[in-house]
Amino acid sequence: MLLIKCPFCGPRPEIEFAYGGQAHIERPKDPMSLDDEAWAEYLYIRNNTRGVHSERWRHINGCARFFNVRRDTISDEILVTYKVGEAPDAVPEKDRPTKGGAVR
Ligand SMILES: [Zn+2]
Repeated sequence: MLLIKCPFCGPRPEIEFAYGGQAHIERPKDPMSLDDEAWAEYLYIRNNTRGVHSERWRHINGCARFFNVRRDTISDEILVTYKVGEAPDAVPEKDRPTKGGAVR
């Protein structure tokens, strides 16, 4: 079973988590200026990345908090998990998962 490291609780089985969509979606700076097409793009259009992708996950059967994941969609390898508002590069190497998603 894949272990996912919640930045708040530590490594937990994948069944405790729910996928929450693409991460780092910026809200429009001036929402009133958007036309319908721009709104639709903001609300519904997402990347379909083949490779490393930033995702939002939620620890639904744990702390219930949202966090971000950088995952390779080809290998399903989780490269790093980090709190919302943090930069993925700020996570120390020792706190990153090993190959296959497990945390050292
Ligand atoms: Zn948690």
